Amino acid sequence: MIPGAFNYHRPASIAEAVGLLDTLGDDGRALAGGHSLIPMMKLRLATPANLVDLAGITDLKGIRGDGNDVVIGAMTTQYDLIGSDLLAAKVPILRETSLVIADPQVRYVGTLGGNVANGDPGNDMPAVMMCLGATYHIAGKGGERHIAAREFYQGAYFTALESGDLLTAVRIPVPAAGHGYAYEKLKRKVGDYATAAAAVVLTMKGGKIENCSIGLTNVADTPLWAEEAAKILVGSSLDAPTVKRAVAAAEAITSPASDARGPAIYRTKMAGVMLARALARAKSRAGA
Ligand SMILES: Cc1cc2nc3c(=O)[nH]c(=O)nc-3n(C[C@H](O)[C@H](O)[C@H](O)COP(=O)(O)OP(=O)(O)OC[C@H]3O[C@@H](n4cnc5c(N)ncnc54)[C@H](O)[C@@H]3O)c2cc1C
Repeated sequence: MIPGAFNYHRPASIAEAVGLLDTLGDDGRALAGGHSLIPMMKLRLATPANLVDLAGITDLKGIRGDGNDVVIGAMTTQYDLIGSDLLAAKVPILRETSLVIADPQVRYVGTLGGNVANGDPGNDMPAVMMCLGATYHIAGKGGERHIAAREFYQGAYFTALESGDLLTAVRIPVPAAGHGYAYEKLKRKVGDYATAAAAVVLTMKGGKIENCSIGLTNVADTPLWAEEAAKILVGSSLDAPTVKRAVAAAEAITSPASDARGPAIYRTKMAGVMLARALARAKSRAGA
């Protein structure tokens, strides 16, 4: 339960952090809130020789509107997301999701950047970011580049981040005014990771679904964007037979592990149940 020895670095700017991470290569690791990384280090599942603490970089913090997008700094905490009036007005699914992550102690220090960069399929924000069509801003030795959340996740703990890369911010297109949304998460107890969870953002026109996007958490090696399931729903009124077809399409792309949260088939079915609930709740909120 005691981590191995490591050197501690505390850069004051993004450029300094990128320089350090580049020089240290595989021997260096960014430290954000530490609520995924430190437990891994205590279990010796991660043994970085150098930690590059991002806490002193003010440019990595904050939430701002930018045209039709909101931009959230990587070191913005889940607690900050919950308290943001801008997000409550523009992207309320982020508050709903943050409130079912862990517990208040974790949320006070756990960051959005750490949650999406971690690559753990149990993290809740990645599927929400895929659902919203978010883009990640990455600073590396070659300068800044942007990667869509839908293309970022490659396997459990494998992402598009390369050695020396720093995730600086997340850019989210604001969903249309009056959109419906929901994040439904099944967990064994408060503070647990999802057995299965579903994120839905949709718009309705004349009683029919106009646009729909769906993300699924912890039912595969990566978060999932359920594109086919969403397509089935467009043009429908969310009638029972169409929802059933969409749920089947979503379940078909899952491949969860059997683990302490239940056998694989149960977790697949729970993904379907979470999706049906999220669709119903999102519909009830649409146009409000
Ligand atoms: C008891 C407990 C329960 C939890 N339950 C949940 C839950 O239900 N749902 C959930 O989603 N999470 C849960 N978590 C995890 C929590 O949300 C973490 O805070 C989050 O996963 C990681 O964020 P962090 O800021 O703590 O990152 P850290 O732990 O500091 O970092 C995580 C990883 O991301 C990398 N990293 C961090 N920031 C950057 C960056 N800017 N650029 C590049 N790489 C970066 C680090 O190098 C590390 O590999 C739980 C944690 C605990 C301790």
